[in-house]
Amino acid sequence: MSLNAESTAFRSALEVIRAVEPRVADAIGAELADQRESLKLIASENYASPATLLAMGNWFSDKYAEGTVGRRFYAGCQNVDTVEALAAEHARELFGAAHAYVQPHSGIDANLVAFWAILADRVESPALKKAQVRQVNELTEADWFALRRELGNQRMLGMSLDAGGHLTHGFRPNISGKMFDQRSYGTDPATGLIDYDKVAEAAREFKPLILVAGYSAYPRKVNFRIMREIADSVGATFMVDMAHFAGLVAGKVFTGDFDPVPHAHIVTTTTHKSLRGPRGGMVLCGPELADQVDRGCPMVLGGPLPHVMAAKAVALAEARRPDFADYAQRIVDNAQALAEGLTGRGAKLVTGGTDNHLVLIDVTGYGLTGRQAEQALLDSGIVTNRNAVPQDPNGAWYTSGIRIGTPALTSRGLGTAEMDATAELIHTVLTQTTSGESKAKYVLDPALADKVSRQASELLTSFPLYPGVDLG
Ligand SMILES: *Cc1c(COP(=O)(O)O)cnc(C)c1O
Repeated sequence: MSLNAESTAFRSALEVIRAVEPRVADAIGAELADQRESLKLIASENYASPATLLAMGNWFSDKYAEGTVGRRFYAGCQNVDTVEALAAEHARELFGAAHAYVQPHSGIDANLVAFWAILADRVESPALKKAQVRQVNELTEADWFALRRELGNQRMLGMSLDAGGHLTHGFRPNISGKMFDQRSYGTDPATGLIDYDKVAEAAREFKPLILVAGYSAYPRKVNFRIMREIADSVGATFMVDMAHFAGLVAGKVFTGDFDPVPHAHIVTTTTHKSLRGPRGGMVLCGPELADQVDRGCPMVLGGPLPHVMAAKAVALAEARRPDFADYAQRIVDNAQALAEGLTGRGAKLVTGGTDNHLVLIDVTGYGLTGRQAEQALLDSGIVTNRNAVPQDPNGAWYTSGIRIGTPALTSRGLGTAEMDATAELIHTVLTQTTSGESKAKYVLDPALADKVSRQASELLTSFPLYPGVDLG
């Protein structure tokens, strides 16, 4: 696509918006300017392509399309059918999955769809069969009451939050924690790695209905073949939430035992993290769970977002191109360069390094809390987020870690040399910051913060963001 076409498209869109509410047009323009200037190391963020972004801003947003491709509860869905079928086809081909459901609005929603598909398959269907009825409306009041109790009395085993697990894997503040009796597995305190024998032991004791793997802050690969064997040994359904690392699966960096798709009964993901698509979610599964998964709307989802499914189709088409595999490999090369740059300068990393797109710095080595480090880095033009480390002494709010990830900067084109320079900037800020009188307060010379901010922007000048987009 030529430079002119992208600039024209976005300029025209802003002009149309400006005529109605100029402050929104200004905010959109300001957001691009801010993103262009920031050294974005947030592991869960990325930059979607102009084609993906443009696919979202149109009249597909106006359509109701409850149901599935070819079986809608509303008339006139032929064009939505086209884009939903395309997105699902690209997803199946890209990941080698038998079935793809592309309606979930987010990662949380994809997980809810998966949980309820499993509950429907393993708890509800047997109860219907036993009562010799076809659907829930035909159950007696007593049988319905008993089924509801049983649905609410199931067990889930997932990764603990401080080891890198996610709130949606059965933790109390999320609905999954209210739905399931949950226990979690952690990591080995000495190595920081998942101890599969311990997971197997926990599974034997707890006998979960669902074993969940997947993380948002674990810097290593997970052996999904072993996890599936553990699930099978206790009759659990094995679910993988690949929200963070879907791009590495799509780009064939994670293959064999480390590719969740051939090993899990069901896989969920976001589409906007390393996969670099629009903000949304997706579920992949085999034929056994496909029908239950397709009931996601209206089971737990509102009507599908056809404009976002259109953008998913575009982004998934991009991810099927050979250059995406190259991108995925560069994400990991960059994360490893960043990790080496940090450890070489004396930083302490959880597990000592990384095999994926993220690095977790244990900032207690700098005498700081995660909160202090996050703010000091932000003052210096470096955008990260604080994160708990295993057995975190500062708890989930202040934390002791800084999570950094490379998908976004890799999309901009930064390489391993720039990652080493980034490690230098991070290390400089963290060594020059001292802890203040509380876990949130810190002291950092503003002149140093300014100097690092300038160096951070200089790093970015050779790697323009959305180089084809000139808003004038
Ligand atoms: C980000 C994330 C989610 C939630 O995704 P949303 O789109 O924000 O709802 C779920 N699971 C994992 C492992 C994640 O990292």
